[in-house]
This record gives sequence, structure tokens and C-alpha cells, in this order.
Amino acid sequence: MDKISIIVPCYNEEAAIPLFYREISKIMNKMKQVKFELLFINDGSNDNTLKEIKTLANSKKEIKYISFSRNFGKEAAIYAGLEHSTGDYVTLLDVDLQDPPEFIEEMYRIIKGEDIDCVGLKTDEHKEYGIFRRFFTSCYYKLVSKLSKTEMVPGARDFRLMTRQMADAVLELKEYNRYSKGIFSFVGFETKWITYKVPKRVAGSSKWSLFKLFVYAIDAIVGFSTVPLTISTIVGVLFCFISIVAIIIIIIKTLIFGDPVDGWPSLVCIMFFLSGIQLFCTGISGAYLSKTYTEVKRRPIYIIKETNYK
Ligand code: UDP
Ligand code: MG
Repeated sequence: MDKISIIVPCYNEEAAIPLFYREISKIMNKMKQVKFELLFINDGSNDNTLKEIKTLANSKKEIKYISFSRNFGKEAAIYAGLEHSTGDYVTLLDVDLQDPPEFIEEMYRIIKGEDIDCVGLKTDEHKEYGIFRRFFTSCYYKLVSKLSKTEMVPGARDFRLMTRQMADAVLELKEYNRYSKGIFSFVGFETKWITYKVPKRVAGSSKWSLFKLFVYAIDAIVGFSTVPLTISTIVGVLFCFISIVAIIIIIIKTLIFGDPVDGWPSLVCIMFFLSGIQLFCTGISGAYLSKTYTEVKRRPIYIIKETNYK
């Protein structure tokens, strides 16, 4: 009999947990042909998330939990989940029901039937974005795929069912700065995608802000970036733009009104432009340096405060 480990990262999700459990237990009861292990990771929540999880864990022995000493982020929670899971198959899903548990049945059928390594879910929601966002999203994925030489599937969710072999391969990548989408493509293996429409969050609120998303996007390219370095990059780009605008204004002004002080406009343009480029480049090398710095410290990806494992 196969065993499926269900890994659920939770950060301030007290409201979503009971709703999630209601849905997931339906699937667990329905799929009689497999055993389950339900593993909640409490990622340093500061609400009653841990209490909710413990209540569940006390009622059923197949419910496990790991509670971090602070918030380490979803990537760390995924890593801890994979490391502790014992199933022949492992699935990752969000607690907010944006990854509908009923897909597990279909994913399991596909992974068994077609003898592949992974079934993942992706969304084609970007089709509904405005023209601007769609353009940037598609450019971003193209850029990342080109730069990293690992294919990033547009719209891919973290929701997937994979074999133990693939989960172990993911665990072999022990880096501190984790970008799961990249890691999953890096390890290879045959993945089949199911397209679905992501439903709205059932309770609580998203932990993603536009700024967080932006930083996450940079992570995919350089692996990691500390905020000041990111800011220096942005400032660099900003200066390039300012210089272009200044160049245009100064050229037009010079053409119309003449040039009272010889050489001054061009000097300013060059100064603006070069300092922009310089800041931009310092930002990039700084980003790589910071990545190396955090990796070299070899700090643990997560720290467990309590668990009911073993
Ligand atoms: N999450 C986590 N640690 C964090 C942020 C989020 O474990 O620091 C969990 C969160 O509880 C949820 C999942 O990761 O189960 C996805 O988070 P969220 O719904 O905020 O992301 P979105 O769906 O908006 O991308
Ligand atoms: Mg969500």
C-alpha cells in the first residue's frame, strides 16, 4: 500500500486550518487505496495556528506537526516537510484551499498510471492580467529561463505530487537561499502539468505583497538579494532613466535655445548615465556577493521548537 505525505506550510492560518482539514479529510477518507500522513509546518505563527494544529494532531495519529522557533518562510517550511515526510509520494499544498485537495486523487492516478515522477498544477491566470502585467510576466519568465538555463514554467504553483525519489533529489539541494520553482526544475524528472484556475483564499490574508513578489523575482535570477543591494540596483536603473530623459530634454533645449555654457549639458548627461550604470553593476555584484555570504555561513534552513515526530 502506497503512503502519501501531505505537507502543509502554515503561517498565521488559525482561521483556515479547520476549513482545510474538513476538505483534506474528505479526500483522505475517499482514497482508501493509500495511507496518508498529514504534516503541518507551523512557520512561527503569532496567532493560534499551533493550537489548532495540536488539537487536530491529538485526535489522529497520522497527523504530525513541526513548529518553528520563528518565521523562516514558506521555502524553509517546504524543506522541513520534505525532510521529515516518510511517504512513497509527497504532496505540497497551501492551507488556504487555493490548492484544492481534491486534485490529489487525479494527481495520484496520473503519477501511477503514466509512471512519471511528478504531477504539478499550474494556472493560466496570467491570461486574465492586464496587457502590461502579462507583458512583464512573460518577459520575466523568458529572462529567468534564459539566464538560469533551467526552465521555469509560467504560472506553476508549488502544489505538486512527486515520488520519494524526486523529493530526495530536492533535499540534496541544501542551499540556504531556496527558490523552489527553480529547484524543482533543476532536479529534472518527468513532470506533467494540470492547468486549473486558482480559487480565492478561504480565510485569512495572503502573505505576499508586491514588494515581496519583486524580491522573490530577483531571487530566481541571482539566487538571493538583500534589500539594500536591490535598492542600489533600482537606483542605478532609475538614474539611467533620468539620464535618458535629461539627454532628451537637454538636446531639445540646446537646439531651441542654444548652449550658453559650452560642454556643460553633455558633461551632465555622461555623468548621470555613467553613475547610473555603475550603481547598477555594483548592485548586481553585491547581490551575488550577498548570496555567497549567506550560503557560506551555513546557517540552518529552519529551527524546530517543537514537534510530535517520534
Ligand atoms: N506561508 C508560510 N510561511 C510564510 C508565508 C506563507 O508557511 O512566511 C504559507 C501560508 O500559510 C500558506 C502558503 O504558505 O499556506 C501560501 O501563502 P499565501 O497564501 O500567503 O501565498 P499566495 O497564495 O498568496 O501566493
Ligand atoms: Mg494562498
